Amino acid sequence: MNLFDVYPINPISIVRAKGSTVWDAQGNEYLDLYGGHAVISIGHTHEHYVSRITDQLNQIGFYSNSIQTPLQRQLADLLGRVSGKDDYQLFLCNSGAEANENALKLASFYNGRKRVIAFKGAFHGRTSLAVSATDNPRIVAPVNQTDHVTFLPFNDVAALEAAFAAYGEEVSSVIIEGIQGVGGIRAASVEFLQRIRALTTQYNALFIADSVQCGYGRTGTFYSHDYADVSADIYSMAKGMGNGFPIGGIAISPQIKPWFGMLGTTFGGNHLACAAALAVLEVMQQEELMQNASEVGSYLIHELGNFDRILEVRGRGLMIGIELPDEMRTVKKDLLAKNRIFTGEAKPNVIRLLPALNVTRSHADRFLEALEERLNEF
Ligand code: PLP
Repeated sequence: MNLFDVYPINPISIVRAKGSTVWDAQGNEYLDLYGGHAVISIGHTHEHYVSRITDQLNQIGFYSNSIQTPLQRQLADLLGRVSGKDDYQLFLCNSGAEANENALKLASFYNGRKRVIAFKGAFHGRTSLAVSATDNPRIVAPVNQTDHVTFLPFNDVAALEAAFAAYGEEVSSVIIEGIQGVGGIRAASVEFLQRIRALTTQYNALFIADSVQCGYGRTGTFYSHDYADVSADIYSMAKGMGNGFPIGGIAISPQIKPWFGMLGTTFGGNHLACAAALAVLEVMQQEELMQNASEVGSYLIHELGNFDRILEVRGRGLMIGIELPDEMRTVKKDLLAKNRIFTGEAKPNVIRLLPALNVTRSHADRFLEALEERLNEF
């Protein structure tokens, strides 16, 4: 059987990894500043993570949501504490798309409405409603096309106010990434997030903070929306939550009440996934990784500001976008081929840095030197 060929891939196979270092099958060493799409949060093969999952696997890996799983409660408690949302409720699933799908659905159950407001440049996943709220018609299949989603310009307060004035009573939810990832590392402005909060409250719509890529401590606060001093009604999360173990979830504000059967999943919240997620939060706390994300991120952003060939540096903490002129579109590939550094990209020509939250200043310096070398070739 062939693999279904949907991924443009690098001809490299990574066979071993530790922290922010990975090795290929030939023994070559690479610096990983991408963490497999922002997934690696506490570093590859962290000792505590490996032993917690291994111990759990030796006890029980999976049962189902028809029995008590005390690990789910432990995870909810710790997540509530670390994120500063003790009074929220946790629903566990398996991926970012699934988290957003459940968030949008839950909002619609809550207020009985259908209309979703999303924004230009947004990416919310590939399941049915999540992909409809994603601003990329190429990946929306005809069966997923719907009139329920309205796209507004990002960070445009006037357009948002006009939309609510025109049809605010119909709006079920507004979904927004604190910093757009796939859209090119573009931060939602403080004013914009605060207006979303005020208008959704006024019209009894729900504010969904897609924190799948920008959340989980990456920007130096637990949710990147915290920067605007707003509380959303639902936070969706995945990626960094399991450091590679598939797990997603939504944190749900207390005014939204559950009923049996409202949401559900077979695999969500299984023993192994909870053990992985607990290990991540424990390491984040013990090693003060949000603080590190903020410090190393600020350092990188400051230093990148000194490169005159870069058009713009965007982002916060360890979610950084480096916009380059068109003629430098090979830089990302060259960083990998010539300097053995993994980075990501966003169209048309943005290098995306999404390293583990315990990346060090010396890793940052290695990247800065490599980038200077690459840019000097032009
Ligand atoms: N939301 C955002 C902001 C994302 O960046 C992504 C994935 O890149 C998703 C949702 C979808 O997550 P997943 O690929 O785990 O379904």
